[in-house]
Amino acid sequence: MTNPFHALGFRLLNATLEGGSAQAENPLRLSRRGFLLCAASLSSCSAAPSSTSPVAGLLKTPFNANYRTPSFQGPMPRNPDMAFGSNFSNSAGITFSRVLVSGNYVAMTFDDGPHPHNTPRLLDILRARNIKATFYVIGQSVELYPQVVRRTVAEGHEIGNHTHSHRLLSKLSDSEIRMELSRCRDAIASASGVQPRTMRPPYGGLLQRQREMVHNEFSYPTILWSVDPLDWKRPGSSVVTSRTTDHS
Ligand SMILES: [Zn+2]
Repeated sequence: MTNPFHALGFRLLNATLEGGSAQAENPLRLSRRGFLLCAASLSSCSAAPSSTSPVAGLLKTPFNANYRTPSFQGPMPRNPDMAFGSNFSNSAGITFSRVLVSGNYVAMTFDDGPHPHNTPRLLDILRARNIKATFYVIGQSVELYPQVVRRTVAEGHEIGNHTHSHRLLSKLSDSEIRMELSRCRDAIASASGVQPRTMRPPYGGLLQRQREMVHNEFSYPTILWSVDPLDWKRPGSSVVTSRTTDHS
């Protein structure tokens, strides 16, 4: 099958949009995953208010007006320096935790949004750097904050299906999984007019048989990740950065 991503990094970074207020607003926001570079600015929502802009104070990389999302024509080039993950060949294009591209790229993904405050702040950061990312959103939150999803799509990012209520799918029946995915899909479509093309199971929990069912019925490949910098433990931005880049 063709590669499901527009811009492909060989690293998939899992992410969370949790902030200090997220727990109270959405008790189902349970995922604890990490992301690159922007962790400190998003986490600062739970910190004491600052007199200066927390985003402006934390940006460390310069504005890059020349960056463009890479695109490839024809077969995806193979990176000779990277071994395939075992699930890459075994599941015949149904599960991805990384993809192979020519050059070193990071595919940034952010889970568990939309968040009414953190997502817009993150979008500002990405826009300033001309970076496109993928957002795996929760249907319940999409219904609460459809305007945030609309903006995410309008600014060129990809939306993925992260289920309606963030349950552990491997414990659910097929009909419950269908309900979780279809409700999230419909919420995304209603909010933004786009259909998600990939899914990420909460906690990474989806059995191989279930992945095949989801692929057959929804045409979704299961997208996992290859780097989890555990930013939610707040180790500091330098640690998050090194954990991520040390994998390259
Ligand atoms: Zn999640």
